[in-house]
Amino acid sequence: MAKMATQTEGQTRSAFPHRHHNHQRCVDQALGKALSLCEERGARLTSLRRRVLELVWRSHEPVGAYDILEQLQRDGHRAAPPTVYRALEFLRDQGLVHRIESLNAFVGCPYPDESHVSQFLICTACSEVAEIDGTKIRAAASRNAAAAGFAIDRLTIELRGLCARCNAHDQGSSEPHDHAR
Ligand SMILES: [Zn+2]
Ligand SMILES: [Zn+2]
Ligand SMILES: [Zn+2]
Repeated sequence: MAKMATQTEGQTRSAFPHRHHNHQRCVDQALGKALSLCEERGARLTSLRRRVLELVWRSHEPVGAYDILEQLQRDGHRAAPPTVYRALEFLRDQGLVHRIESLNAFVGCPYPDESHVSQFLICTACSEVAEIDGTKIRAAASRNAAAAGFAIDRLTIELRGLCARCNAHDQGSSEPHDHAR
């Protein structure tokens, strides 16, 4: 969509949050954006959907549907798996969460109000996932696919490795890395 061109921070925004960042702020921001987006679109952010979104945002580690179900049941909800899947589907449709295909788990999207191509960086040491802009990779993949007469239905970009902090630890540095936000 046209919005893609207006991204100002480009390729290197966010990445991994600092270990000791105030995560409640991430959660509050995510819930605030969800509320206003759903209102704008006339989509119903029911209390269950909102709670599921909150659970996905529990941390920057992807969360599985089963974990969400367990937590809902601990909350006293008599939720069944289809309830959770439907809520997750709604949140995905609204761009509020993404599914990490290789982990079959979900993460919250920090940019639900922008049309974007997700590129996920998955740290295999601390399990955190960061989302960066994959627009250039998408363009290259589209060109290659078109050259082969192939129509892309879905493109998943998931990279596994070590985040800067875990990588620094790996190399013997005791200094935790200060991630730019
Ligand atoms: Zn956070
Ligand atoms: Zn996203
Ligand atoms: Zn890490």
